Amino acid sequence: MAPEVEKSDKEWKSQLSPEQYKVLRKAGTEAPWSGQHVHNHDDGTYRCAGCGAVLFDSATKFESGSGWPSFYEPAVADAVELVQDRAHGMLRTEVRCRKCGGHLGHVFDDGPQPTGQRFCMNSLALEFEPKT
Ligand code: FE
Repeated sequence: MAPEVEKSDKEWKSQLSPEQYKVLRKAGTEAPWSGQHVHNHDDGTYRCAGCGAVLFDSATKFESGSGWPSFYEPAVADAVELVQDRAHGMLRTEVRCRKCGGHLGHVFDDGPQPTGQRFCMNSLALEFEPKT
């Protein structure tokens, strides 16, 4: 299914920072521990840096030790799209924003309860909105 928000490469480039563009539109990965949300424990909502869709809630964020912001579930199940990813000689599950198709990170099965999942996200793909 085509994403709801569709923009040309040129439009994405002018809207996003070069670093955000690399992650969201080119499936790049920021360096571990480099992101601004890794150690954020404030209450609030994480939105897609590409389209503003609500993706994660701070209540599901945990310290994974990976160097990337980690959540045990999305804010709503259909906020994200899971795609099989065979890049770099690994079989992984890519996580994309359903609304704009932007690359967010990957999901792994070694997360904490209640889901056992670890959504390993790039800070560059997320914008934090503190609870007011
Ligand atoms: Fe998005």
